[in-house]
Amino acid sequence: MAQYPREFEVLLPVGYTDGAGRVHRQAVIRKMRGHEESLLYDQTLSSGRLVTELIRSCLIRLGDIETVTSQIVSEMYTVDRNYLLLELRRITLGEHLPALYVCPRCDTEISVVHDLNKIPVRRLEEGQALADITVQLEDGYVDREGALHTEIVLTLPRGIDEEFVSSIAEKDPLRAQDVLLLRCIKRFGTLPPAALEAYGIKILRDLTMGDRHHIYQALNSQMPGVDFQFLVRCGSCGTSFQGVIDVVNFFV
Ligand SMILES: [Zn+2]
Repeated sequence: MAQYPREFEVLLPVGYTDGAGRVHRQAVIRKMRGHEESLLYDQTLSSGRLVTELIRSCLIRLGDIETVTSQIVSEMYTVDRNYLLLELRRITLGEHLPALYVCPRCDTEISVVHDLNKIPVRRLEEGQALADITVQLEDGYVDREGALHTEIVLTLPRGIDEEFVSSIAEKDPLRAQDVLLLRCIKRFGTLPPAALEAYGIKILRDLTMGDRHHIYQALNSQMPGVDFQFLVRCGSCGTSFQGVIDVVNFFV
């Protein structure tokens, strides 16, 4: 009988830093089983929690960590979690992912089969630490005292942030997106952290759409992780538009 691999070793884009400051990036995973499939139908799990439990269940080892707990998976960066979902999808169900997109111009449905082997993944170099990103806003934010703030320093979201916003996402996806982004802001101009907290997502809602776009663009294009964005071309009207491969559809 042929022996198929039961363990798969993959390299996380960023990696998990433990309490002692050591980085763990080599992840050993195995295919999803019926246990994990049942998690997909568990109504008590929020979407963020579902990802945590799926990964915990399939992650055999993470670097030197032999027992990967839910807490560790929650503390992992979202880009690493999404990367692991991609790998789990690939080893469990194969590299072909069918997806459907709708042309924003003529409403034609475009069916695409993605090759998961060809999706670009940006990784940090060996020994390279994750750096914050600084975004310069064009219009910026004017606070209650009339001061203008145009520089935002951001870091990447983690599983705990995803879990935090999951319940909001069901009712109000844009609000969830803003709450998540707010949790990634380490500094906003010269605003003291308490002021930033007091403004809450209002500060993001007051930004121009252009500035908001800059922020999301910076997070998507400058940070490590899987590049889920790609260009879709509509055969009916010739329009090209940006599609995003949705990890939610990976296992349905
Ligand atoms: Zn079209």
